[in-house]
Amino acid sequence: MAIKQKRMTKQKKLIYETLCNTTSHPTADWIYEQVRKHISDISLGTVYRNLQVLKDEGKIIELNYGKGQSRFDGNPQLHYHFVCEKCCQVLDFETNKDLITSLVLEAAPGDVSEYRLEVYGICDECKKNMVK
Ligand code: ZN
Ligand code: MN
Repeated sequence: MAIKQKRMTKQKKLIYETLCNTTSHPTADWIYEQVRKHISDISLGTVYRNLQVLKDEGKIIELNYGKGQSRFDGNPQLHYHFVCEKCCQVLDFETNKDLITSLVLEAAPGDVSEYRLEVYGICDECKKNMVK
């Protein structure tokens, strides 16, 4: 039991580090492929379970845009996301958080515990490629 527990911790640590070392907001499948390079017998189910635990601990966030697979973010601090409708990249961006947060708190029809802001469009990279 103790060995199993330790192994679990090693897997969880690697999953967490893999997620923190990328800004790509990957899917569980992508994380699984990366982690498998180091722990060859890990299962996709284990990756999902550990992602859920990390999420419950508030260390990571799950981004679910209602279509396709969930994506995960190793940065649980409030920040905003730009979703490219062409290449499906999810990009972080910062703006005046204090201003936006105060507007949200003021206008919401209840007490706000958290909020998400997702902006959709065509990213600068795709825009450049379209011009060519
Ligand atoms: Zn794009
Ligand atoms: Mn992010």
